[in-house]
Amino acid sequence: MLTYEEALALVQAQTPRPQVARCRLEEALGLTLARSVAARCDLPRFDNSAVDGYAVAVTQPTTSNRPTDPHAAETFKVVGTSEAGRLFRGRIKSGEAVRILTGAAIPRGADAIIMQEDVTRDHDRVVISRSPTPGQHIRRRCEEMQRGDVALPVGTVLQPSGIGLLAALGHREAPVYRRPAVGILTTGDELRAPGSRLNMGEIYESNGALLAALVRQNGAEDRRLGIVIDKPAPLVAAIRRGLTSDLLLISGGVSVGDRDFVRAACAKCGVREIFWRVNIKPGMPLFFGKRGRTLVFGLPGNPVSVFVTFEAFVKPALHRLMGMAWRDEYVTPAILDGPLHVSTSRRTHFVRVQCQAGENGVIRVRPLGGQGSHHLRSLAEADGWLRVNSDAMPQVGDIVQIKQAPV
Ligand code: AMP
Ligand code: MG
Repeated sequence: MLTYEEALALVQAQTPRPQVARCRLEEALGLTLARSVAARCDLPRFDNSAVDGYAVAVTQPTTSNRPTDPHAAETFKVVGTSEAGRLFRGRIKSGEAVRILTGAAIPRGADAIIMQEDVTRDHDRVVISRSPTPGQHIRRRCEEMQRGDVALPVGTVLQPSGIGLLAALGHREAPVYRRPAVGILTTGDELRAPGSRLNMGEIYESNGALLAALVRQNGAEDRRLGIVIDKPAPLVAAIRRGLTSDLLLISGGVSVGDRDFVRAACAKCGVREIFWRVNIKPGMPLFFGKRGRTLVFGLPGNPVSVFVTFEAFVKPALHRLMGMAWRDEYVTPAILDGPLHVSTSRRTHFVRVQCQAGENGVIRVRPLGGQGSHHLRSLAEADGWLRVNSDAMPQVGDIVQIKQAPV
């Protein structure tokens, strides 16, 4: 049986390269830039006012109304208005002021803005008590960047801030790695949609909701394909529909039970099996295959197995498809604070833990009770994971590397 490391390496090797697409900014959140994006215009595009106030000329030759004492009052005649989006067309001369609002273009001839709070207005005159310094409260053209400058480098994961910057530079779209579409199919005769009435022996179908949330959390598009009964023909039909996605996730029916038809149905649909079964717990019966560019994961039906196999194998594939480098997430050092009860069958175990802040900021972790692959409660309660190989079992007090999970 494959080890965790061998299976992960196969998934990575089989995941196709990301595809480049132009994407509207509205749809680009969380996607990675496939190329650097250059500024389409200067930022700011023109000198403009940072405040509401009055634009004046201070460096022009002094005239009679310009007192030599910087603390003496100075009077300007208001000759017009410059508002954001509405230019003042003239040129101002010494002794003149233009009423100006934040973001409005600086009138020709003006070289300082006096804040509204620092003037007294008297009909068409404003009086100031302190001489302005040249350039004050003016946002200069190109202060931030010049047309053609790199606004965001290749590899940037687009956050709201970056999307805002690109819009400010006049971009409507960005060159990104395309968002993968992930089909989600759940199988089982016993499954009913949450909210429906259950007969004896039936349970609520929860892997669909869990997987859709995981897919979205990782920035991909989820396509729910519904629940399929454990019969070959309906399974084949559903898998065919799912193969139009970049990635197809099937939960359940992949083990050795009498009604586990997923592998056979995949084969019938032309999916080439790359591996079946990995020496991990939970999640051992994991199936991985491929048809064309589409990756197919047959995840074991138990909800914790679904979670663990998604995090361990599907997530690295999604990252690669989205142009993001994959880094192992088990990197936070912590002290093991409670005994590990795992079998010693040379397996890789994924253990749910709870983290606590210890002395000097060092995290202490305790394995949670209820580590069964059907135990959703401890899955929800865990705020960390420990990945241990039963060959090298850590003891209480040892330093371990954990993965911290969002709570
Ligand atoms: P299977 O892998 O199909 O043998 O399923 C293993 C266990 O997981 C069984 O107890 C199933 O009832 C349960 N299970 C399978 N699929 C789901 C699902 N979508 N939601 C909740 N439980 C499931
Ligand atoms: Mg089943």
